[in-house]
Amino acid sequence: GAVPPDARLDEVIAAAYARAQRHEEGTVADYIPALAEADPAAFGVCVADVRGGLHEIGDTRIPFSIQSISKAFVYALLSEQVGHERAFDVVGVNNTGLAFNSVVAIELNDGHPMNPMVNAGAIATTALLPGDADDKWEAIRTGLSRFAGRELQIDEEVYRSESETNHRNRAIGTLLQSYGRITADPDAVVDVYTRQCSLLVDARDLGVMGATLADGGVNPVTGERVVSADVCRDTLAVLAASGLYERSGEWLFEIGLPGKSGVAGGLVTVAPGKVGIGTYAPPLDSAGNSVRGQIATAFLARSLGLNIFASD
Ligand code: GLN
Repeated sequence: GAVPPDARLDEVIAAAYARAQRHEEGTVADYIPALAEADPAAFGVCVADVRGGLHEIGDTRIPFSIQSISKAFVYALLSEQVGHERAFDVVGVNNTGLAFNSVVAIELNDGHPMNPMVNAGAIATTALLPGDADDKWEAIRTGLSRFAGRELQIDEEVYRSESETNHRNRAIGTLLQSYGRITADPDAVVDVYTRQCSLLVDARDLGVMGATLADGGVNPVTGERVVSADVCRDTLAVLAASGLYERSGEWLFEIGLPGKSGVAGGLVTVAPGKVGIGTYAPPLDSAGNSVRGQIATAFLARSLGLNIFASD
């Protein structure tokens, strides 16, 4: 199938927005204190097509921290650097079936982080990036900015707030070190991971970042190649299996597209060869996935026929 025509996209996005806006369930994350300040009513949807067209409704320019959505793009950058086999060996591609910050998942698997979309795997991913902490951070900041097509900045308040409260992530880093799964200094790696989670994006950025993965690694707005098509394929497979944590099966069953959520309320979804969908709505379900984001994306996927398992 082709990219849906512009008029059809605008009409369906408006309907998806209205449908999702009626839902008031979910709670704003507060385990990172700074995230609790988010407006629970904020809601934006951006569909970015692989021709570079942007279709937006609502609060698509409100900045929020990218959080776990960074994991998808940092994994793509790592895969580009170390290749398919090494990324597979060290980080893995299987769902844990457990919460994103589970320590039990690490213990059950001999210290293997299982996949790059849970905190253990994301910390291992960041650890594997070449160079010292400054090199890793620079590669992440510039790499994610290229996916977005603009210079991304860190939210210093979110970074400070998470740094003061991320005892569990520091424990995960040390646990990975104890199993010999990471060799870099775990506290320095977790610090880079905390920074990457604090990068500010908006729903439009997420749409463009998703469209870059949909477009085989070329940012359709800037025309710049960010990663290879093979890396996109690998990243999307990992997202399909684990992008919404222990709800990934339900998500794939209902929506049929790779996606990635973050606890600040962002969600990015990719229809390969067609569009990236970026949404922002802070109230989350019990797994940490945006409630309105999921509803709006499900509506879009059905109305536009985007499910990758559909034969027509
Ligand atoms: N920075 C957050 C954490 O490590 C990211 C979690 C998320 O978005 N699910 O807890």
